[in-house]
Amino acid sequence: MLMENLKEKLLSILKNSNGVEQSSLPKILGVDRKAIYKVLQELEREGIIRREPFSSGNKKTYKIFITKKEELKIDISDISWSPCAICPDIERCGRGQPISPETCIKLTNALKAEYMNLIGVKTND
Ligand code: SF4
Repeated sequence: MLMENLKEKLLSILKNSNGVEQSSLPKILGVDRKAIYKVLQELEREGIIRREPFSSGNKKTYKIFITKKEELKIDISDISWSPCAICPDIERCGRGQPISPETCIKLTNALKAEYMNLIGVKTND
């Protein structure tokens, strides 16, 4: 799994949880501990996550929490990232129409790029 994909998947899991045990992440994400540790270090350095010591039975691990849950929401009051403003199909585009935001690849890719930007992952777009 690419580093960017791992980071995105990890943040998605953390956003929808109240903390995840670090030792469970290799199984959840299907990657080795070394790769996870590298991503966690980067996210911790950026202040996006925090790690707290955690004991589970005899096992000592860390619990990972996301710290910027609210900041990871895409700000739709600023839509400068959206392709819609310069789209030639905007007049024909609408919910339930053959051309719609629900199925638009351009909009999906722009949202994904904006999200990656929020979590600090550089894309080639
Ligand atoms: S959702 Fe897609 S097709 Fe519709 S206006 Fe935006 S970019 Fe164009």
